[in-house]
Amino acid sequence: MNEEALQKTALHDLKSLNKEELRALCLGLGMKKFRSDQIFQWLYQKGAVTFEEMTNLPKDLRQKLSEVAYIRSLTLHQKQTSKDGTTKYLYNLHDGNQVEAVLIPEFFDDGVADRLTVCVSSQVGCVFGCAFCATGKMGFFRNLSPGEIVDQITTINLDALERFGKRITNIVYMGMGEPLHNYQAVMTSTEILTDPLSLDLSPKRITVSTVGLTKQIKQIGDEKRDFNLAISLHAASDDKRDQIMPINDSLNLHALKDALQYYNRLTGKPVTFEYLLFDGFNDNPEDARNLAAITRWLPSKVNIIMYNNVLGVALQRAREDRLNAFMKQLSAQRVRATVRRSRGDDIDAGCGQLAIREGQARGKTIAKA
Ligand code: SF4
Repeated sequence: MNEEALQKTALHDLKSLNKEELRALCLGLGMKKFRSDQIFQWLYQKGAVTFEEMTNLPKDLRQKLSEVAYIRSLTLHQKQTSKDGTTKYLYNLHDGNQVEAVLIPEFFDDGVADRLTVCVSSQVGCVFGCAFCATGKMGFFRNLSPGEIVDQITTINLDALERFGKRITNIVYMGMGEPLHNYQAVMTSTEILTDPLSLDLSPKRITVSTVGLTKQIKQIGDEKRDFNLAISLHAASDDKRDQIMPINDSLNLHALKDALQYYNRLTGKPVTFEYLLFDGFNDNPEDARNLAAITRWLPSKVNIIMYNNVLGVALQRAREDRLNAFMKQLSAQRVRATVRRSRGDDIDAGCGQLAIREGQARGKTIAKA
């Protein structure tokens, strides 16, 4: 059945369901409980893209399933590998949209792969329009389904096995989109990824990053989610944050502090503050002092990230001497901070850039939602 025909049917997109919904669907078809586990395993552990592949399911059950549901998968459109091994994957979605994900390998001294981190997208585009972000310039197209999020990771996992002989080790939700703006699909995707019948990843290896959606941060606390939370801070005063992150107009640092302290009270977990260092903008001694004050809100650490310059964006990566001075200031304030060097400089680095370039090449309209 082609895409148009699928849209017109009331069939279920299997990869949009969570495990309980999948079970309910299977029970409704008269299947035994263990059959839904088998199907789940086929979808997320064995990478089945058709019902015919599910060979431990009797033929009549496969037939029944295909009458009420379908499996939709991403297709890889383009792959770029940097000199440092960082690889960008650009995927086609069923409706002509595209998203990208990145595999960032780190190696031991002998060249053997150590950490294999996947940076995953959660939306096509983004509504939040941060001044430094390529995705923010696209406008917002739509949310991804849980399956579209998980598919990015499972396909990269297969590639990692082939290239490095080991599975991916970490996932960060820092690709295209604001993960907490697509809350339910992102939560379902983390549940799928940590399931023993899927990739069986520890939640400690998953980091969800947000620009600071306070209601959802509190919800994560209420639900006592086990994954790590990172905050895209990027400026340590309301004045500067207002200039580069429109979200700060409505949800300022005071609101963020309140939400994070609530989250920490309920989960006991620390957070990571992500801080892109921009030349001459947020790399002054006063910025370091303000950042140090923010880290005292709750147990936390800081990642200072060296920015991948984006075409058409005035903000630029900070100079090395200013980075060093900034780190010294933080250290004097007893702040735990790590510098994260940019990776994949020689490919279309900076999330969203590859998708935008492709979209422009295909004449796709870049529109604000
Ligand atoms: S940084 Fe994140 S929230 Fe801001 S525009 Fe980019 S994708 Fe959206």
